[in-house]
Amino acid sequence: MITEILSLSQEALEKAERYILAGEVVAFHTETVYGLGANALNDKAVQKIFSLKGRPADNPLIAHVHSGFNIGPLVDFIPEYAVALQRAFLPGPLTMVYPSTAKVSSFVSCGLNTLAIRVPSSKTAQKFLKKVDLPIAAPSANRSKHVSPVTAKHVFDDFNGEIPLILDGGDCDGGIESTVLDCTGKDPVILREGLITREMIAGVAGRCFVYERRAGEKPKSPGMAYKHYAPKCRTAYFTFGEQEKAMRLYREEEERGGKPYFLAENGIAEKLAVNGSNIFLLGRTGEEMARNLYAQLRRAEQEATLLIGIEPTLRGGVMAGVLNRLTRAFGIGASEERK
Ligand code: AMP
Ligand code: MG
Repeated sequence: MITEILSLSQEALEKAERYILAGEVVAFHTETVYGLGANALNDKAVQKIFSLKGRPADNPLIAHVHSGFNIGPLVDFIPEYAVALQRAFLPGPLTMVYPSTAKVSSFVSCGLNTLAIRVPSSKTAQKFLKKVDLPIAAPSANRSKHVSPVTAKHVFDDFNGEIPLILDGGDCDGGIESTVLDCTGKDPVILREGLITREMIAGVAGRCFVYERRAGEKPKSPGMAYKHYAPKCRTAYFTFGEQEKAMRLYREEEERGGKPYFLAENGIAEKLAVNGSNIFLLGRTGEEMARNLYAQLRRAEQEATLLIGIEPTLRGGVMAGVLNRLTRAFGIGASEERK
């Protein structure tokens, strides 16, 4: 199969629609990361996503819809706070989980009685979703566990020859996956942190909790239990208090003839002050770090033999989501049994 990369055009949208109606999988740009989409009403099409990605069968998918789509038939109940959140943040990088009416393929939610729905703001995604006028089940368009894609080229690198079309909308400005919010209970609960922060949600809903999995408990958002976002090179991770240790490891790798790189926020990179040392910069603000993280991890796996991550010092807002992705890319925080 030839994998085409097409920018937004009438012809590209018509092709995308034809593929989706034929049960094929199409990758598309969103404002967070690229998605790997299939008709959420078609069992076989949804199963294809799992086999292409090598995604564990118990990690549910998000149904994507355009902003005029009536989600009423798909969900059983929308609490009042969720209506307010929809008004405030949609379209945008917020996925909302509702009690499901089980109208979409049971493979989308992997047997859960809930459905995650997202309305992306990306122009490419909106046009594509309007054209097909169907709920499109889509996880990030990367092989399972690998770094999420923020350019069409990243998608191509993972799926060349295996999907017919990538709808190219340029770089993803958001850079990390959507916030996943459980809206099935009395209060909103964040299952996965992202660009719509706890503070922003609490500002509209009056309150917002962050789900913490207790030891031995089945995770509410199954995807959060897996090792994720990992570059293919060797990695090591240090807190910002351990920079000397990190530097020793860097030197050792150099002496061994390897090509070490640091991954660090700009402030720390300046202090590392190693002449000619290789550093991938994360940025200065939380938003910058979200936008740069995956692109830098993908560059690192091309160029580095060893990537040494240094924990950023910045906290608050989007940093909760950035730190979650960063530590998991370095293999920290996923429960052992599922790595
Ligand atoms: P991805 O699209 O690859 O970013 O992954 C989707 C994320 O949404 C994963 O962390 C899933 O566990 C989560 N998710 C999808 N559907 C549900 C659901 N019904 N309930 C809870 N989490 C969900
Ligand atoms: Mg993913």
